[in-house]
Amino acid sequence: MPRTLVVGFDGATLDHCERWAGEGRMPALASVMADGSYARMRSTIPSNSAVAWTSLSTGMNPGRHGIFDFVLPRRDEYGYRVASREDRRVPALWTYASEAGARVAVVNIPMTFPAEDVNGYMVSGMDAPRLDERAAHPRELLAQARSVNYRIMSKAAHAFESRDFETAERELVEVLEARGRFVVELARRRDVDLLMVNLEATDGAQHFFWQHHDPGHPRHDPGMAVRFGASIRTVYQATDRAFASIVQAFDPDTVFVVSDHGGTGTSDWILFMNDWLAAEGFLSARPRAVTSAGQRLYQQAKKRLSVPARQALQPLFGRMLERVKGAALYGDYQWDRSRAYAHMQPAVRLNLAGREPAGTVTAGERDSVLGEVAARARDLRLPSGEPAFTNVYRSDEVYRGHASGGPDLVMETAPGLHIRSRNNTAQRGFLLRLQDVGMYLPSGVHARMGMVAAAGTGIERLGRVEEADIHQVAPSVLAVMDVPSQPLDGAPFGFVTARPPAVAAAPAGDRHPHADLTEEEEAEVMDRLRGLGYVD
Ligand SMILES: [Zn+2]
Repeated sequence: MPRTLVVGFDGATLDHCERWAGEGRMPALASVMADGSYARMRSTIPSNSAVAWTSLSTGMNPGRHGIFDFVLPRRDEYGYRVASREDRRVPALWTYASEAGARVAVVNIPMTFPAEDVNGYMVSGMDAPRLDERAAHPRELLAQARSVNYRIMSKAAHAFESRDFETAERELVEVLEARGRFVVELARRRDVDLLMVNLEATDGAQHFFWQHHDPGHPRHDPGMAVRFGASIRTVYQATDRAFASIVQAFDPDTVFVVSDHGGTGTSDWILFMNDWLAAEGFLSARPRAVTSAGQRLYQQAKKRLSVPARQALQPLFGRMLERVKGAALYGDYQWDRSRAYAHMQPAVRLNLAGREPAGTVTAGERDSVLGEVAARARDLRLPSGEPAFTNVYRSDEVYRGHASGGPDLVMETAPGLHIRSRNNTAQRGFLLRLQDVGMYLPSGVHARMGMVAAAGTGIERLGRVEEADIHQVAPSVLAVMDVPSQPLDGAPFGFVTARPPAVAAAPAGDRHPHADLTEEEEAEVMDRLRGLGYVD
């Protein structure tokens, strides 16, 4: 079985890769590109890391794998909970490989918490609240991870929030290097057939440093750019060095470098989905709402205080805080008069009778309400005149399958538009400029187009090829390794010469007990996602 390496350059764009590989700054990636094939790679809609990584790892679309965001709607009330691997409805490529007798090592892939008891090793990704026995398989791996100062995630987002770019850059690189050292140790044993790791730092670099990288960014400051203008490149280069050391230690027959989506600079416009839906008459706010001052207080507390500090305050302010928190999210809507709402994505969920806690839209009205929301969405313009949404789809146009918990309408936004669910700022309105509301959010956001490069056994040397799709990664890796799977949504990339083997039986479920997150752990994960601008 060819020894196969799959390395994630999270959020990496082909433009950045081609440029810096071409300049000799990313020699390891350059040699994969020179010896094999590479392309832009279309991500999922939305191009959210939880959704995209799950599609990448399973070869199935969100309608079948069931991960539509880092969070999923609650059943009994309007609100959401942090999603986990246990919400994924289909096997990942490493599950198939394990079942076929291959040994695997899977490190830092989003939506792999709790860690799966694969035939080999696993360390969960950013959805794991902390590095403990639920985030590592086997347990013995924890000691090794701790010995190289492995961290689930850097504190770059916290540094960024206090505009400490120096620390943010150092955090990104340090956590990346520790992860690299950990994976090199695993790779050196040469006892695994499939090694898959998301190096990740490239995504954070683009979120935090795009304003310094791009002179055209609305928040660009030439003075700051002198020091931080090359930070994204610095992190790409550090990523390439970590990649090179993993290749050297593992000596793979086949290498895939993948990104789960791309990135772009923000336009610094922010669209509050639920305020827009309210303005269009789809969502009804309660007349006597909790004061917006209270909501702002809650938002401030959430931002300023660490999770432990908030926990300590809980007995004192618990009830008040809970009341304000509920209202700040979904508590002050009149659900019996509302037809649609949104979570944190450019997507809309109908208030469907029988599905939502107080649904109003009947099955018979469904199509017409969806049509109405879609029409308003297509009409929505940014002040520049360009459409806020470049594409509006019914979810059944982009998702195939019966997984529940997804939106009914999904949109692609104008490049660089920030999306939030509620406007809790002092300024009214649903479409605002960040500088006018005193918000400081990441200066880079995701874009749909990521990249793939591959070389080695089973890969043709074609150079740059046509655009690929993220659902092609899993079937390609499995074909190269000659591991059978159930029918997947994607076919192997055109540059993969190996053909997928005969269909496998569905793998047995894994044997880990269910690991529910405590309230504190859930807050920890949400805090992390907030730092990247992924949740409100
Ligand atoms: Zn990502």
